[in-house]
Amino acid sequence: MGPLRFDVVVAGSGPAGATAAIVAARRGWRVALVDQRTFPRDKPCGDGLGPGVAQLLRRLDLDHILAGETPAASLTVYGPAGVELNAALTGLDGMSTEGYVVPRADFDQRLRLAALNAGAVDLSGHKVTATGLADDRRWVSVRRAGTEHRLEAGLVIGADGAYSVLRRQLGAGRPSGRSTAIAMRAYADSDAFDPDGPLGQRMIFEWSKEMLPAYGWVFPNGKGTVNVGVGIMVSELRRRSLDLRRVLDRFADSCRQRGIELGDLYAHRAHHLPLARPIPRLAHERAALIGDAGSMINPLSGEGIVYGMNAAYELVTRLPANLSGAVEQARALAEFETWFRRTYRAHLISSRVAHGLMSIPWWARHMIRAANNDPVVFRDAVDLLFGLGRIRAETTWRILRHGW
Ligand SMILES: Cc1cc2nc3c(=O)[nH]c(=O)nc-3n(C[C@H](O)[C@H](O)[C@H](O)COP(=O)(O)OP(=O)(O)OC[C@H]3O[C@@H](n4cnc5c(N)ncnc54)[C@H](O)[C@@H]3O)c2cc1C
Repeated sequence: MGPLRFDVVVAGSGPAGATAAIVAARRGWRVALVDQRTFPRDKPCGDGLGPGVAQLLRRLDLDHILAGETPAASLTVYGPAGVELNAALTGLDGMSTEGYVVPRADFDQRLRLAALNAGAVDLSGHKVTATGLADDRRWVSVRRAGTEHRLEAGLVIGADGAYSVLRRQLGAGRPSGRSTAIAMRAYADSDAFDPDGPLGQRMIFEWSKEMLPAYGWVFPNGKGTVNVGVGIMVSELRRRSLDLRRVLDRFADSCRQRGIELGDLYAHRAHHLPLARPIPRLAHERAALIGDAGSMINPLSGEGIVYGMNAAYELVTRLPANLSGAVEQARALAEFETWFRRTYRAHLISSRVAHGLMSIPWWARHMIRAANNDPVVFRDAVDLLFGLGRIRAETTWRILRHGW
């Protein structure tokens, strides 16, 4: 059989790849949406969708994807020496805090179906193994049931996640151990976090001294289930010879000791997070990297979905109508890369610095106390975690004042 020809091949059908496929198919292109897995499939994640996700879905006229979900209502942060922050996630001076928790098995399937409805060709169950250039096209080898097939396209989008084959094949290297975190999540039953439960739909983060340099979260989906997880830099995990599952179990126990109702943990799964420190080259000859394949993860929050989806939208929207023109396409890919770096550089560097500071118990304690008492610090912290915020001198000064 000869190669199958497409305008765009998208490798990976997570949030980044599915979004790219939706936008590309709507532009009238013949799109292949390739994934090694069949769907619905689980993806280890906190399942947290920041405000930018709901905004992009609205822009794409895909509001139905979050229909029936209730946004998180409040936030608790536990820090060293018993400091605690409790706040409602509303009324933040014009800033959206509309965050949802949707299990990835559902969210990714909904997005993927939107891509197939838009006309993308379903190549689930196909593993991308290699790529290269042939004349004015890029080819991709995919393996299914032991047989290799070849796809050809004007553009290949690498959205194949943290262990990206395309990233390596394109010469963008692997994420280093020093820039990679690892996180484990599990699920637990708890009615306490339901909208009418005693805690309400409350998101919990923990940066306590017992946890540091790891941090923990409890994210409720508002339907009787919570996602419980812990994350840590790979280098720290190795240096301290920690067992991540035990760290997670200890975190769940500490929540129970605080009186938080959590059933037994189940469905434990871990996965690496290539953090945006630094971002590899995104634009390549007739190819681009987005999402985890391009290390688009906030080092402070571990959030990656919104960056990957926004990058997918911007990339595909910027492409020229005619994908065969090499010069026009290369220019559009370069512009996309510039847009990504300009938009996120200061925010991601700030998040990286904040991540380092939050590993220091003294700083974590005073930061959390300041955010609890000072609305300006709280607003900036939320903006850094869920928006495009950056570290500001005034906020740093306010935190230090609390420390003294
Ligand atoms: C435990 C944990 C908690 C997290 N919590 C959050 C959170 O709450 N909020 C948030 O925003 N982010 C979170 N993240 C990060 C988030 O999961 C990722 O940033 C996000 O999944 C990236 O989306 P993506 O589309 O780039 O990649 P993925 O979602 O990883 O999708 C990649 C797809 O590519 C496919 N694939 C891989 N290799 C191949 C191949 N060779 N051929 C074909 N297909 C392939 C995979 O099967 C997969 O479907 C968390 C990560 C972890 C590990």
